[in-house]
Amino acid sequence: MTTVLTPASPLTAADRCDRCGAQAYLRVVLLSGGELLFCAHHGRKFEPELKKIAAEIQDESERLTAPKATPDEER
Ligand SMILES: [Zn+2]
Repeated sequence: MTTVLTPASPLTAADRCDRCGAQAYLRVVLLSGGELLFCAHHGRKFEPELKKIAAEIQDESERLTAPKATPDEER
């Protein structure tokens, strides 16, 4: 292991929440060096706890609410 910080890579559909297995939108790098993945739901739920133990929180949950390329058409 090195202590060099690597640029955060975007989360992908292959990244899964450690709690429920849904697609992960938060990556939490722990002060202890570990890494946790959470979906938006669990990321919010555990956020107060995570902030105590996280060295870094990568939050991509805003992608959930971003406008989609193919919006539903209103009829
Ligand atoms: Zn989850």
